[in-house]
Amino acid sequence: MEPRDLSDHTVYRAGRGIEEVARDRGLDPDDLVKLSSNENPFGASPKAVDAVRDHADRVYSYPKTSHTDLTAKIADRHGVDDEQIWLTPSGDTALDYLARAFIDPGQRVLVPKPGFAYYPMSARYHHGEVDEYRMEKSENFAQTPETVLSAYDGHRIVYVTSPHNPTGSEMSLEDVRTVAEETDEQTLVVYDEAYIHFTDSPSAVDLVAERDDVAVVRTFSKAYGLAGMRLGYAVTPTEWADAYASVNTPFGVTELTCRAGLAALDDDDHVEQTVETAKWAREYMHETLDAKTWESGGNFVLVEVGDASAVADAAQRQGVIVRDCSSFGLPECIRISCGTKPQTRRAVETLNEVLAEVSA
Ligand SMILES: *Cc1c(COP(=O)(O)O)cnc(C)c1O
Repeated sequence: MEPRDLSDHTVYRAGRGIEEVARDRGLDPDDLVKLSSNENPFGASPKAVDAVRDHADRVYSYPKTSHTDLTAKIADRHGVDDEQIWLTPSGDTALDYLARAFIDPGQRVLVPKPGFAYYPMSARYHHGEVDEYRMEKSENFAQTPETVLSAYDGHRIVYVTSPHNPTGSEMSLEDVRTVAEETDEQTLVVYDEAYIHFTDSPSAVDLVAERDDVAVVRTFSKAYGLAGMRLGYAVTPTEWADAYASVNTPFGVTELTCRAGLAALDDDDHVEQTVETAKWAREYMHETLDAKTWESGGNFVLVEVGDASAVADAAQRQGVIVRDCSSFGLPECIRISCGTKPQTRRAVETLNEVLAEVSA
């Protein structure tokens, strides 16, 4: 007895955890700065942490009211109907739910290269096939309708990330509309807004109201600092509510996760501090890193360093963990998440030392 043939499946390689690295290197976790997973450097919303504590004794019962309340609150924020919100245990799972609801075996999807590894992974394990559209470094990873449409051939799902991980580039709302317009009626455009809080560009949620072929994906992992809770959602056309009911794992989002999400949505101060600091950190990295960087709409900056694996390794030895972008298809780049001000300054100082050594 064996699992099915999974040999063409990409394996998702997440950035390593701080304890893991500390253990391997014989370092104290408190001396490490982890800027490799685009997490919130201020931690979770304190209000969310309180909510988790306050509801800890409620975990004996299935999450029902909290799920309904969180769905309603998110819908209200977006000015959409409750049925349009597909609440999911993580942004990744929102991608899974859309794949489950849309991909028939053998249908093809179109993903960005470089890009987020979970799109092809999710599509493949839902029996889809994967093609790529190229975002060119020589064009600063620009995302235009042409970038996508030149590779488009009737795909069932087209994935767009804006701000894009790991490059930070964006696709304007007008351009997404064009992509949706120019693709077949039966092509779904999944617009991944994991980093939307960190840009001043408008959300594509309005497009969902306008059209029936766009879904927007969101996560609580980045701006809200709830990566460890696993919470996300998709905003979808009202007509797909039955599809959600048909593919949803009952009670997939836990009681404590729902409570944390409800509280985090009310913590404007935490989000504001997070976003302001990320914007500062992006600028600081652009100005002070002795390497090429790209404009970023996210809470991270892509940096060209030559041998990413060697540079990330050397930085890690000095206690600064950054993301080697080889697995994204950019073996010459690292991605540095925006830290607090002290963390970001330390990361830049360390990276500049490492880069000087490497070039010497
Ligand atoms: C972080 C991220 C997500 C979702 O992350 P989850 O932790 O699974 O919610 C989705 N898309 C992109 C591009 C991301 O970087």
